[in-house]
Amino acid sequence: MRPSLLNPLFAPATSLPGVGSKIAKLLDKLVTESGVGARVLDLLFHLPYATIDRRTRAKIAEAPFDRVVLIEAQVVEHYPPGPRSRAPYKVLVEDETGDVLLVFFLTNHAWIEKSLPVGERRWISGKLELWDGHRQIVHPDRVLDAEGLAKMQAVEPVYGLTEGLPPRVLGKAIAAALERLPDLPEWHHVPAVAKMPAMPSFAAALRALHRPENPEAIEPTGPARVRLAYDELLAHQLALALTREHLRCAVGRATQGDGRHAAKILSSLPFELTPAQTRALAEIRADLASPSRMLRLLQGDVGSGKTIVALLAMASAVEAGREAALMAPTELLARQHYAGIAEYAEAAGLRIALLTGRSAERARLLSALASGEIDIAIGTHALFQESVAFRDLGLAVVDEQHRFGVHQRLALGAKGKAVDILVMTATPIPRSLVLTYFGDMDVSTLPEKPPGRQPIDTRALPLERIGEVTARLSRALATGSRAYWVCPLVEESEAIDVAAAEARFATLKEIFGGKVGLVHGRMKSEDRDRAMQAFAAGKTQILVATTVIEVGVDVPEANIMVIERAERFGLAQLHQLRGRVGRGKAKSSCLLLYKTPLGETAKARIEILRETQDGFRIAEEDLRLRGEGDVLGTKQSGMPGFKLARLDVHGDLLKLAHEEARHILATNPKLEGGQGKALLLLLYLFERETAVKLLGAG
Ligand code: ADP
Ligand code: MG
Repeated sequence: MRPSLLNPLFAPATSLPGVGSKIAKLLDKLVTESGVGARVLDLLFHLPYATIDRRTRAKIAEAPFDRVVLIEAQVVEHYPPGPRSRAPYKVLVEDETGDVLLVFFLTNHAWIEKSLPVGERRWISGKLELWDGHRQIVHPDRVLDAEGLAKMQAVEPVYGLTEGLPPRVLGKAIAAALERLPDLPEWHHVPAVAKMPAMPSFAAALRALHRPENPEAIEPTGPARVRLAYDELLAHQLALALTREHLRCAVGRATQGDGRHAAKILSSLPFELTPAQTRALAEIRADLASPSRMLRLLQGDVGSGKTIVALLAMASAVEAGREAALMAPTELLARQHYAGIAEYAEAAGLRIALLTGRSAERARLLSALASGEIDIAIGTHALFQESVAFRDLGLAVVDEQHRFGVHQRLALGAKGKAVDILVMTATPIPRSLVLTYFGDMDVSTLPEKPPGRQPIDTRALPLERIGEVTARLSRALATGSRAYWVCPLVEESEAIDVAAAEARFATLKEIFGGKVGLVHGRMKSEDRDRAMQAFAAGKTQILVATTVIEVGVDVPEANIMVIERAERFGLAQLHQLRGRVGRGKAKSSCLLLYKTPLGETAKARIEILRETQDGFRIAEEDLRLRGEGDVLGTKQSGMPGFKLARLDVHGDLLKLAHEEARHILATNPKLEGGQGKALLLLLYLFERETAVKLLGAG
């Protein structure tokens, strides 16, 4: 159970004064994913990204231009615009050194009259400019009387906002949240950490960030932010370490196949395994055969042939008299896996079934699973629902890992006694990040692709030349080509994504008529499957899509990929999308349509993509390019997110956190005593309570 000390932090934001249901809705949107209710802690973790520094006070004549200054002045005269005039409302103020015009466009006149009474003294903050020979401040950000001045924050934090949420309202909510922040016992005890320069306490760090004393206080490399980033990384590493301990201690079982099914599968394949596939398979089989529990990651680029390795591994489990399960993040992918391997599995006499959330024969399949009449079950997360029981699950393969979390890994692992777990990533992960996300696993890598792949001709074109693209498409379609057309990613809203895709669908339909299909995330899954199948069967030749096709979709005949507004996609994502083509015999191309002018980073991304098709290299470059403000865990990276840590800045702390977590488990594995209690608080604060539960489970 969560320690009661933390209850105020996990209370809903509506428990704060001034936060009603309307504001709470906006806060939900701002600080939480997927619309769960914002809590006090979420507000505290919403850190400022900039500050407004109002410490510079100056006489008017001496005040610097083009930066925020605070002046003390007397109101001289008002110049309201004439009726129906669109001119601004101006107010002249002065001190003994000179005067300034305050300029207001479309502002409530009554407010101006009330705030700036003629003859009175006021403190005015804003950016001073020289315009037409006069000093002016357009829309001062503060107009204060003496009382207001006393309350003013000299260094004001600036927060990311969402539409409809005024900065002042957010600022007040966060200030109220700070009032609820208790002082917590220190959880760091390791010498290396204690030596970090001037590490403030958790609460002091949050206060320092939300009430900055100077602009430097909020810098990502400053002590407050470093402290919190380190806390988050430690919570994560500790949870991983606890999970690993739990899984490793859980009794394993030797699952030794005799190779009979595998041999049949191999002889039915139209190709030979690559050396990398053979090596990975040997590593997996060694784990299966050993009495301890397997927890292994199979890493490889799109199309590197992970699925067949997984199938052969599952065959080993079946040879040993047990069952295997393969779990994909979406139903579409589960179906594709099934379609891709059923033939080989059946050729080897394996009984394979697709089990999805809505299959009509679900009940029959469930009882077949429980009685062991199915050797290999393929499905989505529906496979780890409680109603699903296996007779003797030996191996669980989880595809496209980073859509799942530690939590799901555990749920599936709990499905059988001593289930070995093999995780397959959707894309290569930079070496430095493997530790972060898979710190608890052994790794097998497929660094090269099967032979015979043709390079994908990759080009970038400005959006204005879209006509050339459609012309090229009509020529290609005439020769039987199939093309994906991916529409822009709009971070804020899936609804806008969909609207963009629908609009493109409509314009392409005008040109290509019934040859065009559409899929997006808001469609009913039946409709989406139907559209996918029509494309796979060649009934449609252009498939307009949002990024739902990003992962794993496999139509070998598709050989053209058009990505619209490519500058909006992350590098890893572009690489994933491009990987949807180049899977068949025909020569493939990828057209990146971008909007001018192209920013530096977007330019660099497109350059790298044109230069290489090596997913591992792209992953490294992606990490390197991901700059300022782009935290891992955004939609772009598709990785599980950190709220406070930024791996580009705080990456070095990761190793330290990893070591501290190991040290903790070595010295205090049950998290007992004062330090143990404090560490539990840490795990709860960063919502790693699944790991906390393992402590009791033993
Ligand atoms: P991944 O899951 O890693 O993206 P897949 O397992 O889907 O890749 O493999 C991509 C394609 O390559 C499939 O059509 C598969 O049949 C084929 N393939 C796999 N291994 C080999 C190999 N050794 N030689 C030739 N083709 C292969
Ligand atoms: Mg795959």
